[in-house]
Amino acid sequence: MNNRVPAAAIEIIALTKRYGQGKPAVDNINLRIASGSYCCLLGPSGCGKSTTLRMIAGHELASEGDILLENRNITDLPAAQRGTAMMFQSFALFPHLSALDNVAFSLKMKGMRKAERMAQAQDLLDRVAMGQLADRKPAELSGGQQQRVALARALITKPKVLLLDEPLSALDPFLRIQMRAELRRWQKELGLTFIHVTHSQEEAMALADTMVVMNHGVIEQVGSPYEVYNCPASEFVARFMGGHNVIETATGKVGVRTDQLQVVPAADAKANAEHNKMALITDVEYQGTYVLLGLQNPGTSVTASTTAEISVMLSESTFTQRPYAVGETVQLQWRADAAHPLPH
Ligand code: ADP
Ligand code: MG
Repeated sequence: MNNRVPAAAIEIIALTKRYGQGKPAVDNINLRIASGSYCCLLGPSGCGKSTTLRMIAGHELASEGDILLENRNITDLPAAQRGTAMMFQSFALFPHLSALDNVAFSLKMKGMRKAERMAQAQDLLDRVAMGQLADRKPAELSGGQQQRVALARALITKPKVLLLDEPLSALDPFLRIQMRAELRRWQKELGLTFIHVTHSQEEAMALADTMVVMNHGVIEQVGSPYEVYNCPASEFVARFMGGHNVIETATGKVGVRTDQLQVVPAADAKANAEHNKMALITDVEYQGTYVLLGLQNPGTSVTASTTAEISVMLSESTFTQRPYAVGETVQLQWRADAAHPLPH
């Protein structure tokens, strides 16, 4: 073993899932997830996130490949023997059971004596600051309190890895942002490995130490939110993360962030500027702290159905100094180091 590589909680080796003929739902993926890290699997609907998570959980059998948990091969073990636990969408608490009975439920299924399982469940509820409310039913708890009960219920089996499949997506936006901050705090406090599936870039950016961007059953990029946002590895990642333009240049395609394009009035355009493109403004959207310009190739006739090809984010003060209008032709310029080559 190489000592400099941090211990992997989960190692996925050449993992494939086929449901039938055609392209596999998960197609030969390889991934190491560091112990004690928050990992988000991110990608559009149908890209294979849940299938990957379910294979780790043992709710779905792998067609090929291996899954190791702390160097133990768990690929074919029953779910209960893996050292993983799952937290589901909207927490999926039993409505007719108290918080304490919800948490103790899986110990009951294992045949543990009542006094012992209640003591363990109470301990965990105390740990997530829910000890005082152990007798309440889910409907008598706030969203945040329900999430903590669901967390305690998942942790009762002492998992090494907690698996979360879109746990926040059914919540209203306000609660979702509160709950994700709380999930992140619990993950750090407990020091556990979390693997969280989401289709929301914003959620993954807010939560993840490591983001795994998937598309069509394969991994497009693995990296920190900073790395993925600043240096998307492919056209797909650049478009999916948003905030980027994919620009054709003489030497190929590059990605440039919307806030790293400068706009120069046509009269001041420099034909010899190294990285530039002439463009026609088709949209001007005021957004408060910034103004979003939509642009197209020069010569496009602008109608209601014109969609912008390039977006530029100007600070409000930049825009106020030199306002631009729809129909104006401008030159876009960018620094060489702001452009990232995008292989297909
Ligand atoms: P995601 O969670 O990223 O939205 P899934 O992992 O659920 O995607 O699905 C990946 C692909 O596998 C999709 O094309 C989906 O239709 C297919 N799929 C998922 N579960 C099954 C199943 N039980 N039987 C057949 N096809 C499935
Ligand atoms: Mg899914």
